[in-house]
Amino acid sequence: MKDDNCIFCKIANGEIPSTTLYEDDTFRVIFDLNPATKGHCLILPKEHYENLTVLPDETAAKVLPLAGKIGKAMEEALGAKGFNVVQNNGEAAGQTVHHFHTHIIPRYGNPDEMVLWKPGTSTPEGLREVCEEIKGKLG
Ligand code: AMP
Ligand code: ZN
Repeated sequence: MKDDNCIFCKIANGEIPSTTLYEDDTFRVIFDLNPATKGHCLILPKEHYENLTVLPDETAAKVLPLAGKIGKAMEEALGAKGFNVVQNNGEAAGQTVHHFHTHIIPRYGNPDEMVLWKPGTSTPEGLREVCEEIKGKLG
């Protein structure tokens, strides 16, 4: 299924040209227009899914192996020392394009590179409580 108003549908299916790093029947991998670091890529499924909660398991199962291969190539080709695999769901989580996508962000060890979160604190009791809340919905 495609969404006529979705830019990532158009890019993933070649209606809008892009610099394509990788393509198969399921995905197109492109470069982020506003890269966090050199080589920052996006894995786009060719079908439209708003976010991870509606992504079919069969498609989801292919994302991490592909991300791993691309990350390894980035380390070898660009001298990256590591890479982040980031996937935002919902505006509160920073999702700005509502077509599922996965970021692969090579890391070079520079101090000004993005930081994912500020570590907080926890207590065993607090962790048990939140665990029970979520477990109730997991099924
Ligand atoms: P997110 O914040 O996870 O929804 O990520 C959306 C990403 O898509 C951002 O990092 C944008 O820079 C990037 N982006 C938006 N439009 C385009 C485009 N036309 N081509 C490539 N990257 C894009
Ligand atoms: Zn789409």
